[in-house]
Amino acid sequence: MSAAAQTLTPSAEARSFLDREHRLLIGGEWVKPARPEQIEVIDPATEARLATVAGAGAEDVDRAVKAARQAFRGEWSRLTSYERTRLIWKLADELEANLPLATELEVLDNGMPKMVAMYSIAKFGGEFLRYYAGWATKIHGETIPVSPAEARNGDSLTYTRREPIGVVGAIIPWNAPLIMAILKLAPALAAGCTVVLKPAEQTPLTALFLGELVRRAGIPPGVVNILPGYGESAGAALAAHPDVDKIAFTGSTEVGKKIILAAAGNLKRVTLELGGKSPMVVFPDADLERVIPGVTRGAFFLQGQNCMAGTRLFVHEQIFDTVVERVAAMANGFRIGQGLRDDVDLGPLISAEQRERVMGYVDAGRNSGATLVCGGEPLPGKGFFMRPTLFSHTTMDMKIAREEIFGPVLCVQSFADSDLQKVADEANRSIYGLSGSVWTRDISVGHRMAAMIDSGQVSINCHAAVDPAIPFGGNKQSGWGREFGREGLEPYLKTKATTVLY
Ligand code: NAP
Ligand code: MG
Repeated sequence: MSAAAQTLTPSAEARSFLDREHRLLIGGEWVKPARPEQIEVIDPATEARLATVAGAGAEDVDRAVKAARQAFRGEWSRLTSYERTRLIWKLADELEANLPLATELEVLDNGMPKMVAMYSIAKFGGEFLRYYAGWATKIHGETIPVSPAEARNGDSLTYTRREPIGVVGAIIPWNAPLIMAILKLAPALAAGCTVVLKPAEQTPLTALFLGELVRRAGIPPGVVNILPGYGESAGAALAAHPDVDKIAFTGSTEVGKKIILAAAGNLKRVTLELGGKSPMVVFPDADLERVIPGVTRGAFFLQGQNCMAGTRLFVHEQIFDTVVERVAAMANGFRIGQGLRDDVDLGPLISAEQRERVMGYVDAGRNSGATLVCGGEPLPGKGFFMRPTLFSHTTMDMKIAREEIFGPVLCVQSFADSDLQKVADEANRSIYGLSGSVWTRDISVGHRMAAMIDSGQVSINCHAAVDPAIPFGGNKQSGWGREFGREGLEPYLKTKATTVLY
């Protein structure tokens, strides 16, 4: 493991984007905020200031919601679904045509390795847009063959219409910023909604770049409004706004609860994608050649700053020592450094504050009697780097095993039981229920265990399988509702039943 010593500087194209004056996208125009709020954007790999962007306040949120409402009532609502498909498809084309710059900005802003950014933007972001572009033309109601009381003779017709829910407020986190923005925009636009998007304060750059692409794609003014800003001001104002019809939120469970309270004022619809503490359960017959890379990446992908991260590893006692040793060896071999470099597996954490939080958990782990097998330290020098950390012999009573750390810390505990329900009960001892995985060659054990894990998605012999078509979301305090797939379109639609008596 090495921290890549040499620091690369942004390309001329990225530099010219960073050095622009960054305003708010409202009603199709880049406008100044009502009050002069500024957000400093820091490169987590070098701690250098990348850019200064305008931050939105409550007045700007109000202006953006008005623009979104006007667009919703205007030209946008008169487009056919085929035209919406074409525009979303065009946005995917723009994204792919600008992949190198989008990738570089994402790496600078968030710190993730270049290969991860490029793959996620091209393969996932582009495909996600195209997947929902296709859905726009497949939204329709049903005819219902009943005769309401007034028409017992059958002289009536009832049909449903699926209508867009209206103005959507989207609030997203910093861990995969551009993808998060796309996950909200794609189904909203397919359904015919308009959007006010608030990116995370740490990572507004690719959301602003996406705003540029939205304009180039010819999406009408006001359909997509982008407001960098702070959660307590811009985010809270959006969540509470009386003319917002729905909030689509991804972030922490703690803020998710605040969103619910803020949304109560006008009973706006809410979907929540929140935290996780996902289990990975390894049975003694599992193929270790798949298990070791699978669970190690499952734990440390995006430096563990990933809601689906497998952070609790349950290993059968027969293979416990081997698995712990091999996972630690792989984690120790990860190359840590600036994400702009090609030879890097793990980037920095998002901020000094986040690394301090994670190090607090490492201290708690050390003091709780768990065994620190590897990592547990920050890297010296500039950048918020930290070594991937593995604690073995953890128990579900320990803070590190219970709470979401959102950093590169994996807890491993053994099980001896052949009673699957007991193993599942231990895996389910969490307030969260987002993801999970089961590792075995025995298909009946795999399916039975997958059914017993209380989470929105479970993978067998891989971890966190994601695809635009696979429903994604959490049980328990990991969230409300599902994104992705046909189900992911539903929260952006409302049903109207219409009955005619002949
Ligand atoms: P966070 O603190 O909850 O912030 C998420 C977003 O909410 C940010 O844009 C934030 O603005 C905003 N916000 C903060 N306070 C708010 C308020 N009172 N009202 C309205 N908005 C408010 O989460 P984070 O630290 O950015 O991200 C980490 C968390 O996200 C983890 O818990 C992780 O598990 C979760 N996550 C979940 C998923 C999923 O799909 N389930 C995916 C990724 C991440 P600021 O930027 O100004 O704080
Ligand atoms: Mg935050």
